[in-house]
Amino acid sequence: MRRAAGSCAALCDSRGHAAEGEGGRQTGTMTQEPKQEAKKVFIKSYGCQMNVYDAHRMADVLAPEGFAETSAMEDADLVVLNTCHIREKAAEKVYSELGRVRAVKRERAAEGRDVQVVVAGCVAQAEGGEILRRNAGVDLVVGPQSYHRLPTLLAEARRTPGVVDTDFPAETKFDALPAASGERTLARGVSAFLTVQEGCDKFCTFCVVPYTRGAEASRPVGAIVAEAQRLAAAGVRELTLLGQNVNAYHGEAEEGGAASLAGLLRRLARIPGIERLRYTTSHPRDMAGPDGAWELVAAHRDIPELMPYLHLPVQSGSDAILEAMNRKHGRDEYLRIIDRVRAARPDIALSSDFIVGFPGESDVDFAGTMRLIEEVGFASSFSFKYSPRPGTPASELDGQVPEDVKSERLAALQALLDSQTKAFNAATLGRTVDVLLEKPGRHPGQLGGKSPYLQAVHIEDPAARVGDIVPVTITSLGSNSLAGVRAGTGYKASA
Ligand code: SAM
Ligand code: SF4
Repeated sequence: MRRAAGSCAALCDSRGHAAEGEGGRQTGTMTQEPKQEAKKVFIKSYGCQMNVYDAHRMADVLAPEGFAETSAMEDADLVVLNTCHIREKAAEKVYSELGRVRAVKRERAAEGRDVQVVVAGCVAQAEGGEILRRNAGVDLVVGPQSYHRLPTLLAEARRTPGVVDTDFPAETKFDALPAASGERTLARGVSAFLTVQEGCDKFCTFCVVPYTRGAEASRPVGAIVAEAQRLAAAGVRELTLLGQNVNAYHGEAEEGGAASLAGLLRRLARIPGIERLRYTTSHPRDMAGPDGAWELVAAHRDIPELMPYLHLPVQSGSDAILEAMNRKHGRDEYLRIIDRVRAARPDIALSSDFIVGFPGESDVDFAGTMRLIEEVGFASSFSFKYSPRPGTPASELDGQVPEDVKSERLAALQALLDSQTKAFNAATLGRTVDVLLEKPGRHPGQLGGKSPYLQAVHIEDPAARVGDIVPVTITSLGSNSLAGVRAGTGYKASA
């Protein structure tokens, strides 16, 4: 179960395409003309922000083939389910959705229209051909490393339905992906995701990522800067750098050698138009950097564009459980990192992921997690019941925790996290914070955006526009967002 216990941007996102939760060859050109009459693609994304980014890039690959995005599956000529395998529930959702897709495909076939169905993402990678055996209506199964080959694979599946591509190809997909048009980029919002690193070599015993996303790999700084410049030119003002282990980033620097995440952030902060930078998800072991210089922590002190927010999953507050999880750090090490980060940036908002009911977790272990939460004080968090995943070492451990115990622990943990989120938000009351306005609100004249601490904030201001960064005095607290009034006239207008 995935649950946001706070105002943190949900791991699920609906910008530009349906989402649920849980360049060409970089040519430098902004647009590529469709080759043929417009067809429609419906892309539904499950799970993390990396899937949201991947879904956008799939739409970019399909645009030159004549596909326009639709938010209605019934209108689509092509349905793509971009799946998540992290927990059992996330994977199950795909199979129930495939039932609905099959019904739509049948109805369209009765009208003489062909609908192609693609299962992409981590379930595709993990289950491959099994998906075809369980679902006759699926035309193509494509893993996360191969989606740049979608046009070729779709053509192949048109000739012979039932194509599976779950390879880890030698060429990187990023080199082969076309750039989105400026228009499409801006339609996705003024805050954009940018994947800088993929895969993971950490092998936490509960996690499927090293198997579904492969070994850790970082994109070169030059390619990331080029993509960020295109996003900025289209009107994007905030970048969230993504990676399964983003602070292990070590891509090729522009001047040669390897760059750190801190170096990359410094470089991106120089791009005109980019006013805000964020990154997620980090691993505690990589906070010190390869040279132990704590450059990333210093970046939070020194780079004004880097927002005061850190998502640093700890999973558990028990040393025994952390060891069984193969997290390669203990609770004290985590707490010392938090002290360092707070010393560098005292107002930083902290967020984490927690797993309850990992095999062997006793009441004492769980109490340790609750104590750690009390010691740190989180602004927001994500918390889950442990879900045994086939093929992972933890799924075979003795001491699997009964479901009712997991539920009880999760409820207690989420109550504590919720109270911390409320306290964090309450402390913002009366303060003035800069808000990046991201979209119109529900009422006329209302706009919604994010504070530096990733809190959702609404203001009523007919003069303001999406993309403006305005100082807002917080006047009231809602259950999921804050409301405020514009403070003075100072603001950074959108371009
Ligand atoms: N790389 C990040 C880290 O090291 O913490 C986490 C990335 S993982 C995609 C996102 C979160 O899903 C994890 O932090 C963990 O809390 C949760 N998760 C992963 N596998 C899980 C499992 N088998 N059961 C429950 N939650 C799980
Ligand atoms: Fe999964 Fe994160 Fe552990 Fe990698 S570091 S195995 S992505 S939980």
